[in-house]
Amino acid sequence: MEIRKQYIELLRELIAIPSVSAKEAYLPEAAHLIADAFRGLGADVIYDDTYFAPFVLATFQSKVPNAKQLVIYNHYDVQPAEPLDLWATDAWTLTEKNGKLYGRGVDDDKGNLTARLSAIAEYLTEHNNQLPINITFIVEGSEETSSRHLDDYLAKHHHHLSADLVIWESGGKNVNEEIEIFGGNKGIVTFDMTAKTANNDLHSSLSAIVDSASLRLSQAIASLFDHHGNIAVPHFYDDIAIPNAREKQLVAALPLTRDSLITQHGIKVPLYTDRNGDDLKETLYFKPTINIEGIQSGYNSAGVKTVLPATATAKAEARLVPNMDPDVTLQRIKDHLQEQGLSDIVVTKTLGQPGYRSDMSDSEILRVIDITAHYYKAQPIVIPTSPGTGPMFYIHEALQAPIASLGIGYSHALDHAPNENIRLTDYNQHIDVIKELIRSYEL
Ligand SMILES: [Zn+2]
Repeated sequence: MEIRKQYIELLRELIAIPSVSAKEAYLPEAAHLIADAFRGLGADVIYDDTYFAPFVLATFQSKVPNAKQLVIYNHYDVQPAEPLDLWATDAWTLTEKNGKLYGRGVDDDKGNLTARLSAIAEYLTEHNNQLPINITFIVEGSEETSSRHLDDYLAKHHHHLSADLVIWESGGKNVNEEIEIFGGNKGIVTFDMTAKTANNDLHSSLSAIVDSASLRLSQAIASLFDHHGNIAVPHFYDDIAIPNAREKQLVAALPLTRDSLITQHGIKVPLYTDRNGDDLKETLYFKPTINIEGIQSGYNSAGVKTVLPATATAKAEARLVPNMDPDVTLQRIKDHLQEQGLSDIVVTKTLGQPGYRSDMSDSEILRVIDITAHYYKAQPIVIPTSPGTGPMFYIHEALQAPIASLGIGYSHALDHAPNENIRLTDYNQHIDVIKELIRSYEL
């Protein structure tokens, strides 16, 4: 237990560093602290500060000949803590309350890192400082700002890197307290759409003869969808990876239902799948999307202003499934607008990242599933892909190994929101599971 307490102290120090990558703040401070912790445990550390957020690569070498290679991916950057007045405790002070730990980054992702360090430290202490596998940590500091340098970094260091299995940054239990294991995530391309119809806003009487930018942009947005909830951009679905039988079966077994989704969020419009008859879960997990994140144009304050806006912008995104390329997808959207006679709509890419799914039948993935099932005395919920986005694709490209996402979280961990927290029980269980995973490689 002493070891676990020691790493809770490390977690306390890490939480006290407001390493917000969006503000490019305190990133080297957090990276140095982590590098020192790895060195203290006997790892070989390569500290790379070529980028604004330094990378920490730490390797624990096994003496076993031809030992297998485990890679663990974590990040030390966090989301901004604002709005601070919504926090019940100080966001940058690790606070224990009723069996929970509060603080920005406690679940995403600093607590996962310290739990895994605890596991290795305990294992080493109990096994005469020997590991049955090589373990390499890749710890980055701009995950929350789309891992801007990860692909470049991995290409640069690929000669140090190989893996049989990758353990992803985080994960946890769902609302039904079932442990979840994810093997992939969607990609994304984000973009701005801008309409400019005149040099300046016009008197709205001119709407008799001139399109407003707000109308033009609305037409462009509307043209992206048909009335059944399908994306109307030609070739948009051409490249998508079709889910295999096991992937479909795993997703079919997930507890999500149409009615629970509607009730939980108070959804007041018919679901796409109600309109087009497609399967709800297969659509959520295996189909790409286009979403309009925000629209800005014209007059939006109190009272009336009879104006014809000359500019309008929308922030938009497409979530991508494996095999879809962010740039190709965006080009298809641009081509579509051109064909619709909307070539004046300027489309500008902001971020892009491809999606990835692991082979959930891989023997190393099955090992993780077995260990988890055995430890929790219940079958985990195995999910081939998260409908959200993360940089798994780049890690897979560099390492060519399957990825399993599991961790210390639970359904009220409030990642990215005020009062982010974890339960100490989940934290300690994850330490045990990582130790069990290491133990499973003993000969
Ligand atoms: Zn994270």
